[in-house]
Amino acid sequence: MSEILHTIAEVRERLAEAAEVAFVPTMGALHEGHLALVGRAGELASTVVVSIFVNPLQFGPNEDLDRYPRDLDRDVALLPRGTIVFAPEAAELYPADAGGTRVVAGPIGSVFEGVSRPGHYDGVLTVVTKLLNIVQPDIAVFGEKDAQQVFLIERLVADLDLPVHLEIVPTVREADGLALSSRNRFLDEGQRSLALTLSRALQAATDAGARGAARAAAIAAARAVFEAEPAVELDYLELVDPATFEPVGEEFTGTARGIVAARVGQTRLIDTKAMDLRAAT
Ligand code: AMP
Repeated sequence: MSEILHTIAEVRERLAEAAEVAFVPTMGALHEGHLALVGRAGELASTVVVSIFVNPLQFGPNEDLDRYPRDLDRDVALLPRGTIVFAPEAAELYPADAGGTRVVAGPIGSVFEGVSRPGHYDGVLTVVTKLLNIVQPDIAVFGEKDAQQVFLIERLVADLDLPVHLEIVPTVREADGLALSSRNRFLDEGQRSLALTLSRALQAATDAGARGAARAAAIAAARAVFEAEPAVELDYLELVDPATFEPVGEEFTGTARGIVAARVGQTRLIDTKAMDLRAAT
């Protein structure tokens, strides 16, 4: 069984004597991707804390906050024995008399995901900062799948001198390549196969890069995959420099990060893949 804590005071008291703590923030609706993060946390520290909190601050007014899946009992049952779960109510983290202080993401907070989700990353960075201050872990574990989030959390930790080590876990996928996501449960069978367009497009860009393509040709190869599936509404598809999260230039050689977002029906999905450009030259 896992222990479930609901208040900040309970967390502080429970962890006061803990030797090493690894922390995995989540919004629940746990799947094998989350469990890979928890497994990694267990390899790195004797005490593992998982937060389950659907953070209202990172959802826009027209987003899926209300329909985001919530099932604490199911989530807790999936976690390894001994995991400490922190599952606060929204009012615990954002009491009515709070001052409204926020952590503001730098310029990379307003591109890609930040274009269609204004304020999203300020919400993410604010809750991550609060959770890190509450749990005070030695290590915090995040998934590569949310590549822009990882970039911004790395900036957060560096810019605000937060005393935590970040551990990034590779994306867990279904056998056919679909990245696991809590939102996949909204897909019907037809949409589920359309959702593969994202990973296929990233794979097409990867293959082009391995054949010697630079940025433009790799992006064209990925776009062609979307053009063959007009039912999937592409939001953005880009190759970014992992050091800056800015689009790579045509002259870029080395490992770029492909990022993609698209809508399948009402469901917005993202995916990412590291790939070598001009690999054959
Ligand atoms: P979420 O519950 O969506 O906020 O995700 C919580 C953490 O799990 C984040 O660090 C995500 O990047 C990570 N995560 C979500 N999906 C996957 C996946 N398929 N593989 C690895 N990590 C994931």
